[in-house]
Amino acid sequence: MIFDGHSDLLWDVTRRAEAGEDGALQKWVRVLRRGGGEGVVLALWAHLTTAGAFWGKVPGMGHPRRRTERMLQVLERELSYTRDLRLVTSAAQAGEARRAGAVYAFLSVEGMEAISTEVTGVDWYARQGVRMGMLTWNEDNLLASGAGGDRSRGLTAAGRRVIRRMEEVGMIVDVSHLNDRGFWDVMGMAGRPVMASHSNCRALCDVPRNLTDDQLRAIRDSGGVVGLNAYHGFLHADPTRRTVEMLALHAAHMAEVMGVEHVSCGFDFCGFFGPGEKGGQGISDASQMENLMLCLESLGMSRREREAIARENLLRVLA
Ligand SMILES: [Zn+2]
Repeated sequence: MIFDGHSDLLWDVTRRAEAGEDGALQKWVRVLRRGGGEGVVLALWAHLTTAGAFWGKVPGMGHPRRRTERMLQVLERELSYTRDLRLVTSAAQAGEARRAGAVYAFLSVEGMEAISTEVTGVDWYARQGVRMGMLTWNEDNLLASGAGGDRSRGLTAAGRRVIRRMEEVGMIVDVSHLNDRGFWDVMGMAGRPVMASHSNCRALCDVPRNLTDDQLRAIRDSGGVVGLNAYHGFLHADPTRRTVEMLALHAAHMAEVMGVEHVSCGFDFCGFFGPGEKGGQGISDASQMENLMLCLESLGMSRREREAIARENLLRVLA
């Protein structure tokens, strides 16, 4: 059974709900189950990009806080008729959901532009059930700079206050989208395990969203995890090698550098964002997650190691 530590499916569910379609969440839960999924992390990603153009047609959604609230409203409504998905905030609750036959879902926030510089925004996220968070998506904001932003910026003073507050309220700091300076600023101050929910290895695919071996070791030293990302552009520079087999090689590299107990899954399936946005061959959506486990077996990983990567490591961090 597999726990996907990063999914934007709530974005798709929201977009469909705004277009008058109900029940998309249920549809995605079925896809997840088909791929052997037992749990998922739903990202609150409210940043405006070309893919997010639908927000422009919804009145009153100019501010990221409003868009975040709308995503939460849509989630609440969809949960009322998706009985086999349960929102949880701890590994213990996830276990209860699983025993009751439900898929469990944690909430995360992908980019905190909605809270501006207000540290009380962290408490607001926590009250909504958010258990892990990224200061940025790829952009520059008032807290930090993302992987696509200004390379010379690190965390701002407000960004540091937010990290401190996140640790106080038990929200896991997720560095997946930060630029390198922000990454090292976080690692220099973190007192709790830090995760990179959906990033691969620069040693195999040198893009800013992936991590260097030094960064992998820093996350290991914090006690955190790094989630394997199926997005085609993070797998390999050569388009013919953007496959599930290559994702398994990222897993093997992470295991070699950090130890297998720090490797998890964060597939980032994104076919719904439009043409060109896709997972690697053989791992294009949640129904294909088991393919990764088969590849890990082919590489000689034991059942115990595969289970650690599939679910146990991430659940340990979310205890
Ligand atoms: Zn992302």
